Amino acid sequence: MDVSQGVKTDVKTNNGMIQPGSFRVVAGPCTIESYDQFVASATAVKQAGFEYVRGGAFKPRTSPYSFQGLGEEGLKIMSEVCGDLGLKGVTEVMDPYDIEMVMEHAQIIQIGARNMANFSLLKRVGAAIAGTDHGVVLKRGLSATVEEWLLAAEYVTAAGGDNVVLCERGIRTFETSTRFTLDLSAVIVAKRLTDLPVIVDPSHAAGRRDLVIPLSKASVAAEADGLIVESHHDPQEALCDAEQALPVEALFGLKDGLQPFATAMGREVI
Ligand code: PEP
Ligand code: MN
Repeated sequence: MDVSQGVKTDVKTNNGMIQPGSFRVVAGPCTIESYDQFVASATAVKQAGFEYVRGGAFKPRTSPYSFQGLGEEGLKIMSEVCGDLGLKGVTEVMDPYDIEMVMEHAQIIQIGARNMANFSLLKRVGAAIAGTDHGVVLKRGLSATVEEWLLAAEYVTAAGGDNVVLCERGIRTFETSTRFTLDLSAVIVAKRLTDLPVIVDPSHAAGRRDLVIPLSKASVAAEADGLIVESHHDPQEALCDAEQALPVEALFGLKDGLQPFATAMGREVI
């Protein structure tokens, strides 16, 4: 695909994650911390009316001294809880050696912002999901242009993995009142240049929970196909990204809060 010419791919759905006429919400904790924490947070996601739960087992932490995630133990917690609750799991893979293991336990594989330009990982993930029901959420790099982001997606699709969902998660700017700057114009631009679905992560963009719901509403209006938001059953105690996690009460109001905006865009929040 020559993105400068706006040539579209022919990929339109993501095996159930993204459906025409719908606005998909993925919610859940930044990190899988324990069975009890994940089952409580995932139960809230289910009760809020959503079908996809996020949770990291391998965490790309800025500091090597921060909690790095539970690894395989976390993945096992995710698949057990998803199986029990009838949810689908979204989790990040950082290392090509872990791709198979992650696919055993999760439906959707996230490639994080810090790995958007890890081309060998992109190729390996694309080849691994080819011909399977698995999909990929590809975060935009912290300083990647839209063209670089779309070309990163091409690495996955060219390797055979056509179920790619792009995710705008904020870029680095001079602004300090938010963790990153949510670039909603990039959502619209990406949707003009490709048929790949585009979702928004307002949690990492804002870095503060009070902005997450307004930015979610703005994302609906900006033609996004969905959201991935962080939520926690006890945000004060979250081991990672506590300041941006939505509490359960806010999660419960999310679907009804977004639906008027989605209705205006001809979509149903799912
Ligand atoms: C995450 O989703 O937990 C995460 C680390 O996201 P990003 O790669 O966008 O920073
Ligand atoms: Mn996080």
